[in-house]
Amino acid sequence: MSSSTDSTLETLQVLGVKLHAVSMDQAVQRVLAMAREPGFHLVVTLGTEMVMRAQHDSEFRELVNQADLVVADGAGLLWAARRCGLSLPERVAGIDLVARLGEALAASGGSFFLLGAAPGVAEEAARTLGARFPGLRIAGVQDGFFREDEPVVQAVASSKATVLLTGLGSPRQEGWMRRHQERLGVGVGIGVGGSFDVLSGRKTRAPHWMIRLHLEWLFRLACEPSRLLRMMALPRFMGRVLGSGGRAVTRWGGNPAPGGSESR
Ligand code: UDP
Repeated sequence: MSSSTDSTLETLQVLGVKLHAVSMDQAVQRVLAMAREPGFHLVVTLGTEMVMRAQHDSEFRELVNQADLVVADGAGLLWAARRCGLSLPERVAGIDLVARLGEALAASGGSFFLLGAAPGVAEEAARTLGARFPGLRIAGVQDGFFREDEPVVQAVASSKATVLLTGLGSPRQEGWMRRHQERLGVGVGIGVGGSFDVLSGRKTRAPHWMIRLHLEWLFRLACEPSRLLRMMALPRFMGRVLGSGGRAVTRWGGNPAPGGSESR
């Protein structure tokens, strides 16, 4: 499953977690190529919180490490790579990847299935995408508060979507797609977190200057103080990177950071 992607893209590991060093253009091209290949391909939009979860949740770590494409959603990952003498071309935020794919799929007659967020939100996000990218087909929408998986799996499968966007929050979204991958009938599934909330207009994204200064996390914290506990992962991540002697980020297969990936 992690076949063609790994052999053609530069692959790093951040505290034992896989990360592809790709630009947005490369990520878009890979997703479109994977959508044409047989089988299901999992795309992870990795943030520092997810890296810290992977330190103590080995099942989640394996899930990410077996994904077909792992892009750097969090600015902290770019900082960490630089500290360790490596570089990532740019941030590939999930919501920006959705927009770029929307544009590409509109041109090729492809479609999205939007799965996740509170009732009504995915519909609103779909309307935004449809208005922004005329020609983009929305193969289906489903909120993220369903009780039974089966009808949702069937809805995705019968939609014949090109790309499944799953916004159930991590790690649920990645686990859900992996669990049902054989029967989803889509070539690519991407975990997109809270992207539908922003696309629907229910949540505001940080202003450009904050994104440029890598302060999007601060904006989200100011809007949602309840995220504080979750966001404590960022200083813990930075501590691990600073204490690693430059080995927190290595090439895939290189020597991991001291302390082992199991420690918190
Ligand atoms: N969510 C969902 N089902 C649930 C719990 C959460 O669909 O049972 C949605 C939630 O409404 C939100 C997204 O999952 O749209 C998670 O957003 P969050 O901001 O936590 O994700 P992040 O962008 O930080 O990964």
